[in-house]
Amino acid sequence: MTGENTPILLWFRRDLRLSDHPALHAACESGRPVIPVFILDDQAEALGAAPKWRLGLGLECFGKALADKGSRLILRRGRALTQLQALIEETGAGAVYWSRLYDPGAVERDSEVKSDLKSDGIEAKSFGGHLMFEPWTVETGEGSFYKVYTPYWNAVKGRDVDAPLSTPADIPAPGKWPDSDDLEGWTLGAAMDRGADVVRPYVQLGEKSAIARLASFMRDGVADYAKRRDLPGEDGTSGLSENLSLGEISPHRCWAAAERAREDGKAGAETFQKELVWREFAYHLMHHTPRILTDNWREKWDSFPWQEDERLAEVKAWKQGRTGVPFVDAGMRELYVTGRMHNRSRMIVASYLTKNLMCHWRIGQKWFEDCLIDWDPANNSMGWQWAAGSGPDASPYFRIFNPVTQLEKFDPDGVYAKAWIAEGQDKPPETALSYFDAIPRHWSMQAGDHYPEPVVGVQEGRQAALDAYENPDF
Ligand code: FAD
Repeated sequence: MTGENTPILLWFRRDLRLSDHPALHAACESGRPVIPVFILDDQAEALGAAPKWRLGLGLECFGKALADKGSRLILRRGRALTQLQALIEETGAGAVYWSRLYDPGAVERDSEVKSDLKSDGIEAKSFGGHLMFEPWTVETGEGSFYKVYTPYWNAVKGRDVDAPLSTPADIPAPGKWPDSDDLEGWTLGAAMDRGADVVRPYVQLGEKSAIARLASFMRDGVADYAKRRDLPGEDGTSGLSENLSLGEISPHRCWAAAERAREDGKAGAETFQKELVWREFAYHLMHHTPRILTDNWREKWDSFPWQEDERLAEVKAWKQGRTGVPFVDAGMRELYVTGRMHNRSRMIVASYLTKNLMCHWRIGQKWFEDCLIDWDPANNSMGWQWAAGSGPDASPYFRIFNPVTQLEKFDPDGVYAKAWIAEGQDKPPETALSYFDAIPRHWSMQAGDHYPEPVVGVQEGRQAALDAYENPDF
């Protein structure tokens, strides 16, 4: 079946873009008809509420981008291999191309797909594109993998990064298109309930807007990035994580833009590249130690007395942004309203949950997985284990962020806290008020409520955590 002119199925997953897409580029270069496909398999079905909703928006937008090129996005639901085999049968396709993913579930699925398709005589080919440095190509002098970020950065910073590929001028269409599911019928946003209308204005949807945002960030933001990236009340970061997560922009393109900014003498450009490399590092860790997604990376932490009961009042208060600790509550509300959270706040809320409240990082990891529109399996797990102290290159346990002094330092004028916490303000801003439109009604929270007292005193929680850490049984 691998005839010269048979169609190529381009199986899209987390790579919803036309430019700098090695698999699409290769398919179009071949001159053979290309059939773009997205399959809602059990892995996509299992996404949390916000990332699944965001995926739906991304697919709709990407479908339109393909239509503008005279192509289509064919949607199918079910087991990936079965759906691909059915499409091969229907279209006479002789090849399936896709961009590589790295989480263990995807690796297992894709390996099975590759070997089964090959044994059916179908060309099955995976390409890079999601990462700049394939995880297995970065090795320590001893031939092992990196567990600490700085040496990893030193190992990759001088490497050549592939220049971004252009958008194919033409995506050759098949003579006859196969049937497609209807995206609306998939109801990918069902679990978002009334939150969808609140979060929607914050979404930076699709490849075009990601590219425009990168350009404006390079023009106006990157020079001061090193200084402003830590201030949660300012728009000082690229805001590209949701696009990188769904592959609406490639890391290579971001890197190349930063390279040009560096050449133009823009001070923050290298810091921005370092952040892109944190993402690569997270994937490096996930590839070499997939258990980072599920288990304490440092096994010693298995005996730490984490609280694991999600029904605890403290966990509920944390999720609902009413711990009585403004930095924590502001972050949790920003998350609910925008589907994203500033990196400094992510570190604070994670440190507070795992250290001050001594709750297992998995509770927070799962909540983020449900609420973040930029959810990324590698970044999220690394971030949580870093904050908890159980990960590689983790924040040392005794370094427990003090959310009060952190807020004074990073939000000295209270801009961030005021933006997100309505209680206690005469005229709360729209951002703070919209939180009450996004949350489930049964949380029974109102803007006019009293702002709560801290669920656990900051010092008290800190001490309990330190005592547990210093306990000889741990
Ligand atoms: P910028 O500051 O503009 O950085 C550019 C890009 O670099 C980001 O888009 C991201 O891809 C990468 N990056 C930046 N910081 C980090 C970091 N600390 N770790 C890994 N990559 C980084 N990021 C996600 O994309 N998805 C997640 O699910 C996620 N969960 C997190 C959970 C916790 C507990 C913590 C502490 C961090 C988490 N991060 C996650 C990392 C980081 O907070 C976000 O990537 C960042 O806030 C995104 O904003 P930005 O795009 O404006 O970043």
